[in-house]
Amino acid sequence: MTDQRQIPSIDHLRQRPAVKALEARFGRPAVRDALRQEAERLRQALARGGTCRDIGKCIEDRALMRLDAVSAFSLRTVLNATGVVIHTNLGRAPLSAKAAARVAELAAGYCNLEYDLGAGSRGRRDVHAERIICRLTGADAACVVNNNAAAALIALAALAAGREVIVSRGELVEIGGGFRVPDVLAQSGAVLREVGTTNRTRVSDYAAAITDRTALILRVHPSNFRIEGFTERPSVRELAALGARFSVPLVDDLGSGHVAANAPALRDEPTVQLTLQDGAALVLFSGDKLLGGPQAGIMVGSRSLVETIRRHPLMRAVRVDKMTYAALEVTLQAYESDRAHEIPVAGMIAAAATAIGERAERLAARVESVDLSATVIDGLSTIGGGSAPGATLPTRLLQLRHATLSASRLETRLRSLDPPVIARIDDGHVVLDLRTVLPAQDDLLASLLESLRTTHKDTVSHEKLT
Ligand SMILES: *Cc1c(COP(=O)(O)O)cnc(C)c1O
Repeated sequence: MTDQRQIPSIDHLRQRPAVKALEARFGRPAVRDALRQEAERLRQALARGGTCRDIGKCIEDRALMRLDAVSAFSLRTVLNATGVVIHTNLGRAPLSAKAAARVAELAAGYCNLEYDLGAGSRGRRDVHAERIICRLTGADAACVVNNNAAAALIALAALAAGREVIVSRGELVEIGGGFRVPDVLAQSGAVLREVGTTNRTRVSDYAAAITDRTALILRVHPSNFRIEGFTERPSVRELAALGARFSVPLVDDLGSGHVAANAPALRDEPTVQLTLQDGAALVLFSGDKLLGGPQAGIMVGSRSLVETIRRHPLMRAVRVDKMTYAALEVTLQAYESDRAHEIPVAGMIAAAATAIGERAERLAARVESVDLSATVIDGLSTIGGGSAPGATLPTRLLQLRHATLSASRLETRLRSLDPPVIARIDDGHVVLDLRTVLPAQDDLLASLLESLRTTHKDTVSHEKLT
């Protein structure tokens, strides 16, 4: 049994080079506090019969773990191996390297966010990115707010408060995270006028509901579900034509923000351009779904509607910061100059199963061991994030089996790595879909998986002490 008098004093511990390094990193008071707590913990562990070969090192290691845990950021990088491209729980769209670099550049200094460089006086914030959005979508005017939920709220508040908005019962949807169309309408002060049924709504249903109290016809993309069978929903063109007869604008909440018409996997997804061409007066979409940019809500359409929205008092509450504009401009530029492949979301959706399979094979060969078997199998990725409901992409999955850990224990273990690896369980086995792992992260993922091969010795000694 270890003699308890062997526990060194705090002053003694502070002479250790590693502790000095900790002090430089975390400050003296925090390190002193951590050392005290860990020394006490060790004293108790030893009294219970625990063992430790190098007491100073034990305290030092545990103090570092404690300090790391306390100072760890709440927001952490994770590897998304779920195969869900636009994963709302995992931060949706990763920015392109160029967009991220541009954010860093603009964030670290001053910029002309609300300054007119020509006039040398106050300028407007809400006009940034407007030109490029208009060129890309063919709209007359555009305005960017914090997210698409905010876009819907302010558009309805500015254009329809106190008046009626006609919505099909088939489109009174909940998008997720508490965004329910009827609730947003109520918050905006507009009055919901439901028409049709869940599965079938005709142009004549809308026509019968139009009165002099009608402010808008609202069309909502049923982003996260699909009704099959006996269904009917008027096209944008039909509704726009109806609206034009009565001078009632059509607003289309598209959600997904699809602008790249040439992606085969998104054949059935309406583009912003076409929705405007077909006569929608205003189209709303997210910046961080299929567009693959920063979190934002983008409103495009007729100049008079956009200007009315801009003047609404809520605008100040839903405006975006310089980092959003910075990332958005670079993202939109990639589309405009046919470099959409630079946008991670676009690249991931376009990636072929064979290419994903080759990466998975390389990874399998590297991590396969006595403890861990790795097999490459066929599977499906999803686009996700309330975009292209039901759209899946054929992929190749890396199926992992651990000699001693069950699938759910292995999945938990993957989440405890640094950075955490988020996998999914298919048919009782852990699978990793490299479609959503950035190719530049393959090496990192391999070394993380290699760490699962053998249990680490120092983990054991820590566990013994606790
Ligand atoms: C996703 C979505 C929203 C909400 O967009 P956020 O950018 O997440 O606020 C609103 N409407 C539709 C149709 C959507 O798909």
